[in-house]
Amino acid sequence: MKNNSPWIHQLNKERVIEHLKKDIESDVAVVGGGIAGISTAFFILRDTLKSVTLLEGGRLGHGATGHNAGQVTNYFERSFHELVEEFGLEKASAGQRSIELAWELMGQMYTEANLDIPFSRFTGFAGFSTFEQIIAVLKNNVLRSRGGLDVRPLLIANNIESKDSIPAEYEGFYVLVPQTEILDKLETTNADFIALAESQKGVVNSALFTERVAEYLLKKYPDRFFLYEQTHINKVVLHKEYAMLDAETHTVKAWKVVLCTNGFDRIKIFDASGLEIDTRFHHSIHGVVGRMSGYLEDMAKPPMAISYYMGVQASFDDMDDPYFYLTRRAYEYNDNKHNLTCLGGPQQMIPDRAEYHPEFDYPEEIEKTTDAFLHKLYNIDPTKNVEYLFTWHGLMGYTPNGVRLVGEEPKNPVLLYNLGCNGVGILPSIFGGDRIAKLIKGEKLTASIFDPQDR
Ligand SMILES: Cc1cc2nc3c(=O)[nH]c(=O)nc-3n(C[C@H](O)[C@H](O)[C@H](O)COP(=O)(O)OP(=O)(O)OC[C@H]3O[C@@H](n4cnc5c(N)ncnc54)[C@H](O)[C@@H]3O)c2cc1C
Repeated sequence: MKNNSPWIHQLNKERVIEHLKKDIESDVAVVGGGIAGISTAFFILRDTLKSVTLLEGGRLGHGATGHNAGQVTNYFERSFHELVEEFGLEKASAGQRSIELAWELMGQMYTEANLDIPFSRFTGFAGFSTFEQIIAVLKNNVLRSRGGLDVRPLLIANNIESKDSIPAEYEGFYVLVPQTEILDKLETTNADFIALAESQKGVVNSALFTERVAEYLLKKYPDRFFLYEQTHINKVVLHKEYAMLDAETHTVKAWKVVLCTNGFDRIKIFDASGLEIDTRFHHSIHGVVGRMSGYLEDMAKPPMAISYYMGVQASFDDMDDPYFYLTRRAYEYNDNKHNLTCLGGPQQMIPDRAEYHPEFDYPEEIEKTTDAFLHKLYNIDPTKNVEYLFTWHGLMGYTPNGVRLVGEEPKNPVLLYNLGCNGVGILPSIFGGDRIAKLIKGEKLTASIFDPQDR
């Protein structure tokens, strides 16, 4: 089965692509044309007078941005209490708040670029099936509350025996409800689910978002925004005041370079003396392949996002015990409106990111596993055969602590990063774009959990 993403399917196939045909200079060079690159370009152009050149090795939105689940969500794939352990309560809370504020930034991009593509916002659900998961969520919520973050009470089924073992310190952070309320919200009859968390969610085609914002920027800033696709940057050489980018047959000279490349596997960075910059830090971004499948139905249900946490898993980033997640949205296909339901299947860590190729087929056994999950958990006719019109996969670049890298390279501020896509990266990419624009504007920012560290 081919790597066939519903997001790429909706892109404009007639769009004319320009590649770099001469040596150029630009105030800022942004490398990578996914949602991080376009958001970075958007905020720099809007909030400064700098010229921006966006360089993409392939086509806009064809990386992780075109192969994700398209769920807009503001959680980290790391328990909040782990972030607090690593960074302290104040910094972890500020980091979480920044990602939550990115909803507003995304709204600004949508409105200012005059977009009319579907972007739905609603309350989404996460279902939990073990007492350990309940305690982990409550522990996070207590810390969130201490950090001044918004906390919604966890719904816990009033028929479970273990409810009497919930420590008193968590009182006020949960409510007991009939289990049917939980199962109805999770759209399941599977009685394993005993608790439910609610949070703000959304769905969008982030590749289409990227393409449309690029079209807007080209029109709005014809003298300051330049876009070159199929222009791979092999190497960046950093000097004290500027950088030279080697784009195969041509060069780009820029005062600042922002890497929005999702990782470092296809680019080399040197300082002027010829030394490669901090390879240990760069190689710490490891690859995870995520697989998705999607099917169409009549358009009868509202948009939704649900995660189902099974087994003993007590944190979001436990690869050995994957969770299953589902989004549903309005989707136009062959000029008709449908519901597109997308399912997140098992993820796979790969030791060397270079081993991943977008052209790889989607493994049939993964579709079977995902389909089994669907029939076990989701309210559909158990005898119904689901036809997956779309099956796709994408590569995520995971940072060691699950937090996106946003900021200046500690060894040379000519270079900045907005990368490390992780499994949740739409809002973090947008937040990153805004933060990079502030840095380029010269604003003094307080230290954050996103700052690249000299390792
Ligand atoms: C299966 C899957 C499911 C996901 N689900 C979600 C989700 O539901 N919600 C969510 O928020 N996030 C999700 N994510 C993560 C999200 O998609 C990413 O965080 C986000 O798209 C990252 O965007 P990006 O711009 O950083 O990276 P990308 O979209 O990968 O863009 C990087 C671009 O850089 C280009 N590039 C790289 N090197 C060079 C070079 N040397 N020269 C020129 N160009 C270069 C690449 O061609 C690519 O287009 C998912 C990801 C995957 C793979």
